[in-house]
This record gives sequence, C-alpha cells and structure tokens, in this order.
Amino acid sequence: MIRILLVEDEVGIAFALEADLQTEGYEVKVTGNGDEALRFARTESFDLILLDMMLPGRDGFEVCRELRRGGSRTPIILLTAKAQEAEKVMGLELGADDYVTKPFSPRELRARIKAVLRRGAQEAPAETYRFDDTEVDFGRCEVRRAGTPVDLSALEFRLLTAFIRSRGRVLSRDQLLDAAWGQGVSLNDRVVDNHIVALRRKIEPDPGRPRFFLNIRGMGYRFDG
Ligand code: CA
Repeated sequence: MIRILLVEDEVGIAFALEADLQTEGYEVKVTGNGDEALRFARTESFDLILLDMMLPGRDGFEVCRELRRGGSRTPIILLTAKAQEAEKVMGLELGADDYVTKPFSPRELRARIKAVLRRGAQEAPAETYRFDDTEVDFGRCEVRRAGTPVDLSALEFRLLTAFIRSRGRVLSRDQLLDAAWGQGVSLNDRVVDNHIVALRRKIEPDPGRPRFFLNIRGMGYRFDG
C-alpha cells in the first residue's frame, strides 16, 4: 500500500484531502506541524509527502530542506497558498518534486501524485546528498554545483564521502588518511591539508573563509554541510 504523509495545518483541508486520498486507496498519515512532520518522515517510511508551506513549527521550506540535507529522497509535492513564482522556484530548488497551488481540485492533485510516484518508480534509487548548492551523487561518483559538474579527483571524492558520512563530527587527519587513502598508508599530515584546500577551492562559495570544511585547531577537520 502506498503511504502518504500529509502535512497540512488547516483542519478543513486536511480532513478533505485525507478522505479523498483514502478513497483513492492510499494510506494517509496527517500532521499539521512542521517539526512533527520532520520526525515522522525521519522515523517512518513514506512513498510521498504532501507538504503545506505555512505551518506552525518549521515551515514547509525548512522541512523540505532538512529532509534533503539528511539524504531523504522521498518525493515531495508542495501545497503552496499563493501563486507566487518565487515561492515555487525556491521550493523546487530545495528539492521538492512538484507543487500545486491552492485552491486546487482533488483531481489535479491526484494527477500530480500519480505523476510523481511514476517518476520515482522509474528512477534508479541512486543515493545522493545535497548541501548548499552542491549535489553529491554516490551512484555515479559525481558532484554538481548548481547543476554544473565539479571536477573532483577520485581521492577528493573519497575524502568528501568520508566527510559526509561523519558530518558534524571532527575527523583527525589520521582518520581522513584511512578513509581516503586507505588503512596503514603513512603520509605527511600536510597531504591531507593540501587536499582539503583543493576541496574547498572546488566546493566552498568562498574558499578563503570556509563554511563547510572547517579546521578544528589541534584536532582535525569537521564537515558542516
Ligand atoms: Ca498552512
């Protein structure tokens, strides 16, 4: 059975949508709160998320961004209140798959849901990770910034992968050497530093003032992406 997480704080709309989707044969879980939506999405498995923009707690944009940053690929359809182009564009840039503008007809929404689910079923389930304007595609070993491929060496890619796997935690130079060069390889620490400089040059918006690849004095590096 296809499971849908419906995030909508307007009770009338939520009730009507839930009933309509259940009639269509979907299993529906409803919440009207952005924080709760994030919790459900992280702890349970859904085939699709219908996400209202204006919510108590985290708003729809934040929920969408958090999910994508965490590596979730669950399709998201935004329910936007206003027909504002900027809002839609921002939502899609944050990783939403589609949007419908309120007021929408149940038929229109059903068609969008089917289209998004179909698209999801066709795509290979390659794993990707996104931060800022950067997308890391582990299946293809490719990195793109704002859609443009970034030319990383295999070593830089392994280094980046190690950072993403341990995001938010400090990695010593030895740990980075093990992860990217292989266990037992003995190299000068400067080699690690030089490759991180190269990564920053290719990925940081301002390589001189890094936001993502942070040097933690006396300890090593931490990835905050
Ligand atoms: Ca709302």
